[in-house]
Amino acid sequence: MGVMQGLERRSDSELGQEMHQFAAELYPICRSITGNGIRQTLARIQERIPLQVSEVPTGTQVFDWTVPKEWNIRDAYVKDPSGKRVVDFQESNLHVLNYSTPVHAIVPLSDLKPHLFTLPEHPDWVPYRTSYYKEDWGFCLSHNQMLALEDGDYEVCIDSTREAGHLTYGECYLGGRSSDEILISCHACHPSLANDNISGLTVATFLAQELSERDLRYSYRFLFIPGTIGAITWLAGNHEIAERIRHGLVLTGIGDAGAFHYKKSRRGNAEIDQAAAHVLRHYSKSAEILEFSPYGYDERQYCSPGFNLPVGCLMRSVWGTFPEYHTSADNLDFIHAAQLAESLRVCATVVDVLEDNRRYRNLSPFCEPQLGKHGLYRSTGGDSIGAEINARLWVLNFSDGEHSLLDIAERSGIPFLLIRDAANLLSEKGLLCVASEDYAECDGRAQ
Ligand SMILES: [Zn+2]
Repeated sequence: MGVMQGLERRSDSELGQEMHQFAAELYPICRSITGNGIRQTLARIQERIPLQVSEVPTGTQVFDWTVPKEWNIRDAYVKDPSGKRVVDFQESNLHVLNYSTPVHAIVPLSDLKPHLFTLPEHPDWVPYRTSYYKEDWGFCLSHNQMLALEDGDYEVCIDSTREAGHLTYGECYLGGRSSDEILISCHACHPSLANDNISGLTVATFLAQELSERDLRYSYRFLFIPGTIGAITWLAGNHEIAERIRHGLVLTGIGDAGAFHYKKSRRGNAEIDQAAAHVLRHYSKSAEILEFSPYGYDERQYCSPGFNLPVGCLMRSVWGTFPEYHTSADNLDFIHAAQLAESLRVCATVVDVLEDNRRYRNLSPFCEPQLGKHGLYRSTGGDSIGAEINARLWVLNFSDGEHSLLDIAERSGIPFLLIRDAANLLSEKGLLCVASEDYAECDGRAQ
């Protein structure tokens, strides 16, 4: 049974609401690239899917990078001269410059201001800022909040630690018939930001949950990792596994109301590029396909030239192109139940395509077989052949051991699932068989 059929037992509104609710559970946690926030996040995910959590010590060399000190925070505030908390971490974790070193001091407003970050163009929003690799402290607040600060002495307190510890990531492995792997990767390092981070975590978690109930051709590896340093750390420790990755997707920013965007892998013509583009063309409205560029999310690491893995990035609105990006406006109202459910279905359809994409061989290649004799043609003549019969003719003609079902779907303009159904039926009727190379690679192994 295909993934879509499994998901179809549930309505979009039911599924979307459950996904949004899960996003709301993750939203308040103060995550960063290390620390207890990411551990708490992984613990929530672990309630739904099998997850192996790894801890990599501070100072570990990972290619050109070093695993940083671990950051944790309990509280932070700025108190005005009357003792009132005017900036309060307890209200929103975005108020602290992520990775701030600890501080507790009384400072005049003029000394405080260089440590304050605002967004003058959106004076009611709080920006999200980080300082992972430079030791610094700071607060983020709305521009209007800052304008209201009067001269005087302010008490600043950041009750944080930045010391030797670990980098934490989670890995969900689902074994299939083949040891060849499909990688699904998402970042888990942003604090209260809904689309950038939590939407990807949510869709990946629900997809893993769905796939865990399936008989799978490929093995699947879901990574829940801190952005950049997490992907680099994982790749540094898993060279051999990386060689088994046949297809991969980075999921990010897929809960907002924008149209889908798929950024191709560095290879540009990998099967995942073909599959994602096909699914978006046939199963979603106004999607856009973007060429690879060495900037963005963790596809940058997977597609670094030494690895050059076939990993693309699936998003809705593209990071950095919408004003809510990296601000307090990327909140739970910015992502929607319907879009989360639709994103899950699109991912599941891409998985269906990859699972079922094979090359076949026509066992009756000299002229067309007489379809009617095999019960594969309409019984009475008419003006046009139906879509199903058309799909059968395409599959028969191009099943030469060279063209995959996805190639045939692309060339014919027929949706993949219709082509696949035609191939299944023709196989049942003895007119088609899986090309021997594909059988050995995908279906014959470990059975
Ligand atoms: Zn981000």
